[in-house]
Amino acid sequence: QVSATELAQAALDRANATKHLNIFLDINPEATLAQAKEADQRIAEGKQHLLTGIPIAHKDVFVTRQWRTTAGSKMLESYISPFDATVVEHLKNAGTVNIGKLNCDEFAMGSGNENSAFGPCLNPWDTSAVPGGSSGGSAAAVAAGIVLASTGTDTGGSVRQPSAMCGVSGIKPTYGTVSRFGMIAYGSSLDQAGPIAGSARDLVELLDVISAFDERDATCIETCDGTPNRQGRVKQAYLDTLASQNGQGSQPLKGLRIGVPKEFFGPGLSADVASAIEAALQQYEALGAERVEISLPRTELSIPAYYVLAPAEASSNLSRYDGVRYGYRAKEYKGLEDMTSRSRSQAFGPEVQRRIMVGTYVLSQGYYDAYYLQAQRIRRLIANDFQAAFATQCDVIMGPVSPNVAKNIGDNRDDLTADWLADIFTLGVSMAGLPAMSIPCGFGGAHGNRPIGLQIIGNYFNEGKILAIADRFQ
Ligand code: GLN
Repeated sequence: QVSATELAQAALDRANATKHLNIFLDINPEATLAQAKEADQRIAEGKQHLLTGIPIAHKDVFVTRQWRTTAGSKMLESYISPFDATVVEHLKNAGTVNIGKLNCDEFAMGSGNENSAFGPCLNPWDTSAVPGGSSGGSAAAVAAGIVLASTGTDTGGSVRQPSAMCGVSGIKPTYGTVSRFGMIAYGSSLDQAGPIAGSARDLVELLDVISAFDERDATCIETCDGTPNRQGRVKQAYLDTLASQNGQGSQPLKGLRIGVPKEFFGPGLSADVASAIEAALQQYEALGAERVEISLPRTELSIPAYYVLAPAEASSNLSRYDGVRYGYRAKEYKGLEDMTSRSRSQAFGPEVQRRIMVGTYVLSQGYYDAYYLQAQRIRRLIANDFQAAFATQCDVIMGPVSPNVAKNIGDNRDDLTADWLADIFTLGVSMAGLPAMSIPCGFGGAHGNRPIGLQIIGNYFNEGKILAIADRFQ
């Protein structure tokens, strides 16, 4: 039997051996080994949780007392939080051992981890490819075999998309089920934490621990469809679903209706992703499920709506970085306003500045009605479209996570919205607040070595159910 200390040391060694991938933004071996020692102590006393001693790592938007928290930004380059985020706390209480903080796009804005102020993170499968984003380091750390699981955040796809591109599994739970306390804010009405791991079964244990009501987050949900939002809820729902999948023999999923949105299979979808998704759907049919064509008619509108709403919220959330209380402050300035302006200009990267400008613009008087309010209306219609499908046509929805496999690092640099367009299959789910996950379902790309993910979307609070369905996939 290996000890937690041996496991932690092996993870630290592996992190060191894979430094060229630029996965970690901060490592603190002393703090890691102290946690491992505690875990070993707990195991010796027989007081362990299933996750005790398991090496994990956190996206660098979860604040931690013992590791720096930068959010991938020069703005917070040397920031150390006086407290731990709720998600970090829950995983620590279960006895997991934190190996360090993971690279990500600056303030989680991006789809390839290229917007990090500390350089891109490379895809462990193919180092000329991005790992996806914004939780690129989180997916890469699992794919590179450094940790068994990691945390990520998903505002418009940032748990699902990097999971897909790194060939690992990740879930974004129903909005409000996991506390945002201590999670650096991007778009607060969309931000949701979720775990990334090697399998759906592992995700069950992780999500089960972090999904719990927290009074320190005003949008955290107390009851989910009549069930208290506390540890044990997700796992129970997962087990109940498995128990109810009582179809005959090789057809355990008999009776399950899988909605396949026709808008997810348009001309923008690459051939390799399309065929991997088709093969996955056929596997589900072989397991007894029935495939139903559905329509999510506002799929395309999710891009302009999201790229109005998310920057709007970001512009407000990021106003706290004023060079006064914490974060970067310009060395030279003339007066208060100049200090704030120079600090923000020097410390925010180009994508963050662009979004602050877009956000400020759409919220300004005279434009608010034309952009922000319209985007809010579209958001509601998108949520209604999902509800219409779940009400009568299907139990879950499946499709691609991203139209393409991971792009090369540096691609799209002169086309600023190309990455935004590739978020088409994940944004609607985020705006509706639904749970959704990605599981690996094949490979594509010119050399056939870039992973592809299958997206499974559930109705509100159905994270246990989609995890059980994902678990059937081979
Ligand atoms: N790619 C999207 C964006 O840049 C989603 C990012 C996320 O989910 N954090 O906003």
